[in-house]
Amino acid sequence: MKIDDVEVIPISSTRPEGEGIGDARGFGRTRETTLLRVETDTGTVGWGEAFAPGRIVDATFEELFRDDVVGMDPFDVESLADDAYTDSYHFAGNVFSQSVVSAVDVACWDIIGKTVGRPVHRLLGGEECQTLTPYASTMYFTETDRPIEEPMQAAVDEGFTAAKIKIGTGVDEDTERVRVAREVLGDDATLMVDMNGNYRPRQAIKTAKAIEPYDITWIEEPVPPENDSGYREVKRHVDTPIAAGEAHYGRFEFKHLIDDRAVDIVQPNLGRCGGFSEARLIADMATTENVAVRPHIWNSAVGLAAAVQFAASVSRYPNTRNVPEPMMVEFDRSENPLRTDILETPFDPTGGVLDVPQEPGLGVSVDEAAVEQYRS
Ligand SMILES: [Mg+2]
Repeated sequence: MKIDDVEVIPISSTRPEGEGIGDARGFGRTRETTLLRVETDTGTVGWGEAFAPGRIVDATFEELFRDDVVGMDPFDVESLADDAYTDSYHFAGNVFSQSVVSAVDVACWDIIGKTVGRPVHRLLGGEECQTLTPYASTMYFTETDRPIEEPMQAAVDEGFTAAKIKIGTGVDEDTERVRVAREVLGDDATLMVDMNGNYRPRQAIKTAKAIEPYDITWIEEPVPPENDSGYREVKRHVDTPIAAGEAHYGRFEFKHLIDDRAVDIVQPNLGRCGGFSEARLIADMATTENVAVRPHIWNSAVGLAAAVQFAASVSRYPNTRNVPEPMMVEFDRSENPLRTDILETPFDPTGGVLDVPQEPGLGVSVDEAAVEQYRS
């Protein structure tokens, strides 16, 4: 089997003026990402996503990857990342190269799964897994003033039992947002916070201590992703678990987070970290330091499908049979047609349970006509 054709498909969707949403770093109205449609000489089609802007992905793919990927056997997928690190040498440790590797890798695993008739999570060594626990990513900062409890109430009404909210704009506002979130969500639910790396260590520590009474399951990106010493400083002073990884890519960056236990939870994005092959290496490394793995998802439905398959495959080490710890997957609650409109059957997180597709490959059918509507 050989790859015959690869199409890079940039997609985007823009919200109306004034309806931007955001995090502590600012607002945005446009969601954009890039799909990869890979077809083999047997007619099997695989899908992947590079979680990066289309024109950059296109140029990177054409310049560094097309000649090697077209003609490649998808079953050789695990050599892809190694080749990308070594062949392109000076460019390999680069987020755009790694995003392209992610898309090709995920598409190859989709093809392998479709060829052998198994969902990817079983190919990656995971046990049978029917459901995961989705958590609502919500309470974004909004461009126009809106009651902050509204989106959390909506998540509760949909049946979510776990949620993550945006903070990171000063200890007083942070504490108020967490207080409101906990009140609406209830005492038994799981609550996480995301600072999006907007703080210096001391600011992050101050907020972390102020919100400790609200039983926070993790604090995400307290300091910028490149601030290794900042992560270590936060960890020394804060009891709440620390998470990071959405802005990291490739096994070598994750090794820094894992080796020193700079974080308690790593969050690879399947459209950026290097795909399934690299995510599995990262997850294996994480087990050696007893660091948990919870994928980051702010992607289109294709990246979401990849993350769901990956999450379903992650090792349950250490065996927590006596203290069950659900595998949680991020489920963005902002309006995003790239997530809701491009599959024939969209993912449905209502009721606080997310079904893991059991069909071969990614287990989803991409609606190509819908994809065309969002091509940019
Ligand atoms: Mg985040």
